[in-house]
Formats: sequence, C-alpha cells, structure tokens
Amino acid sequence: MSLPAINQEYLIDFLVKLLNIASPTGFAEPAIAFVEQELSEFNQLQFARTRKGALIVKWDPSTRGANQPQSGRDMQSNLPPIALTAHVDTLGAVVKEIKSNGRLRLSRIGGVEWPTVETEGVWILASNGQKLRGSILVDTASGHIFGQDMKKTPREDDHMEVRLDVRTLSDKETRDLGIRIGDCVAFDPRVEVTNGFVRSRFLDDKACVANIVSAIKSMVDAGLSPSRTVYFHISNYEEVGHGASSGIPAEVAELLTVDMAVVGPGQESDEFSVTLCIKDGGGVYHEGMTKKMRLLAEQHSIPYKTDVYRYYASDGEAFWRAGGDVAVALIGPGIDASHNYERTHTDGLVATTNWIMAYLLSD
Ligand SMILES: [Zn+2]
Repeated sequence: MSLPAINQEYLIDFLVKLLNIASPTGFAEPAIAFVEQELSEFNQLQFARTRKGALIVKWDPSTRGANQPQSGRDMQSNLPPIALTAHVDTLGAVVKEIKSNGRLRLSRIGGVEWPTVETEGVWILASNGQKLRGSILVDTASGHIFGQDMKKTPREDDHMEVRLDVRTLSDKETRDLGIRIGDCVAFDPRVEVTNGFVRSRFLDDKACVANIVSAIKSMVDAGLSPSRTVYFHISNYEEVGHGASSGIPAEVAELLTVDMAVVGPGQESDEFSVTLCIKDGGGVYHEGMTKKMRLLAEQHSIPYKTDVYRYYASDGEAFWRAGGDVAVALIGPGIDASHNYERTHTDGLVATTNWIMAYLLSD
C-alpha cells in the first residue's frame, strides 16, 4: 500500500511552535502539554502520563475516531503492541550561584559545551513564575579591557556568567528580583526556516516529535489506523540518559526510537535523508528489527542511510539498560552541528515521517 500524503506546512508549523517552547530537561512540562494538546484533536488516541511526567499516547486500532470509516485494517489485531519514543526535553542550565556582582553562574543540563552558547540570549524561568531576560558571556567579555586575553579564558563553568537585562549590581539585588538557586535557564532556540532548511537549537529531538505527530495526523486524515496497538512515549528526561527507562508497557514487542542522526565529517547521514543507526556509543541495535526497517524503506522508496554514531546514546538503550525486553531500532533525520546551532531540511523530516508511517502500517 502507498503511504498517505504528508502536510508539510503543518509539519513545519508544528515543529516551529514546539521549538519555541522552552523545555530543558527537568522543566519540559510545557512542551509535553503542548504535544498532548495538539494530539487531543484525534479522538482515536488515549493519553496518560508517567509519574516522571512523560506523555504516553495509546493508539488502539479498534478505537475508531468519530468520523473515521470502517476499513479492512482497523480490526482487532493479534499482533503484539509496538512503541515509538522521541524526546521533547533539551539541553539547558540551572542557576548554580548568584555572584557578588549580581550575575549568575550556571550548572549545565545535558551535554552543553560553553562555546556553543557563548553570547546566546536566555530566559531565567524563576521558580516564582517570573521570566527574566539575559545573555551568556565569558567573564572577560569586554574586548577593550581584556584584548587578546579574552580568547585565552577557558570556556568553563567558573568563567561563564549570565548578565541579566535588569538593574542589578549585587547578589542582594538579584535575589530581590526573585531569582533563586536552581531556577531554570533556557537558551534561545533562534528558529529560522529558509529554502526548506530549518535552523534552530534543539532540533534534537523536537524534529522527531514533529515527525511522529505529523505521521499520526497524516494517517488519521487519510482514514488509516496502525496495524496493531501502538504506544507513543514522549520522553522528558532523555538528555540526562534515563528518559525512556520507564513508561514503555511490558507487552510491547518492539521499540522504535526516533532521534536525530549525526551529520558531519566521517558520517554517512545528511540533512535530506533519514538514517538507520546500526551502532552508537551505547552499543548495537537489534538486528532483526533493523532488517525489518531496511525492508520497509526499500519497499516505500524512502531515502535512507545507515550510520554509526560516536558520542551518542538513545532512549531505546535507556529502556534496554533498565531491563526492557524488546527489539530496539533507531531512526531519525540528519541534523547538522548537533548539540550546537543545529540545522536540518524538510526532505529529511518528510523521509522520517514516511518511515514512521510505513512502520505503523506494517504487519
Ligand atoms: Zn536526542
């Protein structure tokens, strides 16, 4: 069977909205709520949260939407349920210290490297509900004071600070603004869409969440259901390594992890294709499921690459390490300059969405 058409405008529009919602790990609830709200339009789906705050969306093909016609496929299936996971949490930081000059020292969340966010705009999402603006600078920022020495300052936690765009010159004045140790610091994503390219921070892994949402919408719009019960696990703790270690139901036989592919020197992946990861820093994926994914891609003429990633681990492996007994495979669109100022292309997003649909419709 051929795959339903993808509404690319919807896909990009949803992705841009999601990218613009701040959701560092530990503070990802607004992004989780946004995905739930978007999918709640489809009455085929059932929603639950884990205690950790992940969103679990169940699509049982025997539950038909109000206006969905009966088709040959959406009968009760004997096939065991499957699951897909993608994460909305991102890199970020929390306030670690308030310095005597009123500026903030940060503690990083996930694998942020300081040179990738130096001079970036930030929001301090204070625990009292206030939002305060600022930017990240090295503590030797002024070229007219430090000259060439500015280049020599190590970009390490002790030398990076947030300069607040509020009047404060002391620890006390900053505390009086309501800022507390542990408050969330979100980096500006700086989203731009040009010539089919999407340039933004945190395409890892919001691009893949958009792929899943777009796949569901395309199938529902075409009156199609998956061939078996599917659980979509929208993860909120991936960037710290344990996102999908819980929340995947025990009866699930296969877990398709949808997360970014690595683009750059030495990699096969590119921004215009979807990649099947064979091995990453956490080990090798499931051979049988990997074969199944290759066959589906070939059957549907989906442009895909196979690749090996170095400094990378996925939520599929998190579930394996937690004792999950499932086959796991990993696919995702190519993302250039990952964990930096990232970029991908609509073609890679479309290829990923098509592969997700091919998988959901397969026996
Ligand atoms: Zn990721």
